[in-house]
Amino acid sequence: MGATGTALSLGMGGCATHPARQDWAVASAIPEGGIQSLVEQTPLMDTHEHLPPESKRIKAVDDKDDTPAPDFGMLFSHYADSELRVAGMPEEAYRKMIGRKLSPKEKWKLVAPYYGRCRHTGYLLNVRESVCALYGEEDIREDNCEEISRRLRADIQPGFYRKILRDVANIEHAQINCLQSPIYRESEAPDDLLSFDLTTVNIATGINRKVLRECAGAEVTTLKMAHETLDKVFEKYGGKAIAVKDQCAYGRRLNFEDVPDNEAEPLFVRFAAKEELTAQETKALQDNLFRRCVRLAAEYNLPIKLHTGYAAGHDSMDLSRVRDNLCDVSRLAHDFPETRFVLMHMAYPCQHELIALCKQYSNIYADMCWAWIIDPASATQFLKAFIMAAPACKLCTFGGDYIPVELVPGHARIARRGITLAITQLLQEEWLRDSDVPALVDRIMRGNAHELYDLKRVLKG
Ligand SMILES: [Zn+2]
Repeated sequence: MGATGTALSLGMGGCATHPARQDWAVASAIPEGGIQSLVEQTPLMDTHEHLPPESKRIKAVDDKDDTPAPDFGMLFSHYADSELRVAGMPEEAYRKMIGRKLSPKEKWKLVAPYYGRCRHTGYLLNVRESVCALYGEEDIREDNCEEISRRLRADIQPGFYRKILRDVANIEHAQINCLQSPIYRESEAPDDLLSFDLTTVNIATGINRKVLRECAGAEVTTLKMAHETLDKVFEKYGGKAIAVKDQCAYGRRLNFEDVPDNEAEPLFVRFAAKEELTAQETKALQDNLFRRCVRLAAEYNLPIKLHTGYAAGHDSMDLSRVRDNLCDVSRLAHDFPETRFVLMHMAYPCQHELIALCKQYSNIYADMCWAWIIDPASATQFLKAFIMAAPACKLCTFGGDYIPVELVPGHARIARRGITLAITQLLQEEWLRDSDVPALVDRIMRGNAHELYDLKRVLKG
């Protein structure tokens, strides 16, 4: 798989202290071991995870009400669960598989027939790759599901996030979109391993009265007060957060119209008074509030990460809305040239449109988080096409997008395989030269994320 090159130490051992290569013209040879070893040695900047606080995971080990239980069933609980259900696994069997009542062997009997029906997809490949990275096993089977379960549980100790992310997955830093925090995770300070997104769902795109009141310290009854609350939220968290994140695409279109304050004001007053708003009125209010967040994000130099493309889950996605995502966002990018928009998940299955937007708009970036396991073959093709069509500085190539940290190493392995394949093919097809490769690999795996997100500011506190 590897292209040849003369041996040269690239000094990839360091992590946060290793700066992004700025100068593409500096010729560096591909190391001995070829592209594969170069990609394996290069640490990944992980721009999107949903890991809960490590302390919460440790506490949950003995919590009888907490699911998924700490056994092999956990490895089938995120994303793989959707595939298993779509492949026919009944809801009740799935519940039992992640529950606390059955033994690993009993659970294996429940999942095995459905695993066999979907084992070749990226989600299930990720389970095997993770098991291989963590436990040295090639697959989960009836004869090893107990031992894998024992090891998974035993590994949940203080420091296990760092061990899995750094030592196993060679990830230098991970950005967390905390699903447990209404706006920003305050239970721990960002550090060299983890930083946290500020989410605008509860204060703008899916506005929540209770969260607004908590942020304001009083009932928010007018649009002016709501705007002041948004300002306050950014003042409080803008310096600590690594980025703004919003996943409202799960519930609405991304066509944020320019709704003037005098139109939004009476809507907000009615909203605050718990009067019912029509869907159109709700949207207008969200549009007004989110546009203010977009302005604030630029003021605090925070890129906005937007969920685009494929929807997680099963039997629910509105594909027509997904197909509008990129047309809708291009309007926003046009109206706010000072704000940087990161369009996540390769906008799958609209990834060619995403390349077009990154090529056209200086403030639109692409992130391949989640994409390597949604559709590994298309992700590889996307990377090839992107490199030749849009500026390479517009792309971040990795985010595991997982809740259980145990599934991140598999995703990192799949991403590295895809990156290796894409670069190797570009070399074989003579679109790239050997001397281009080291700087390009460093850029797409980590350098771009360092340029786009101000981790230094976050770490300064
Ligand atoms: Zn996510």
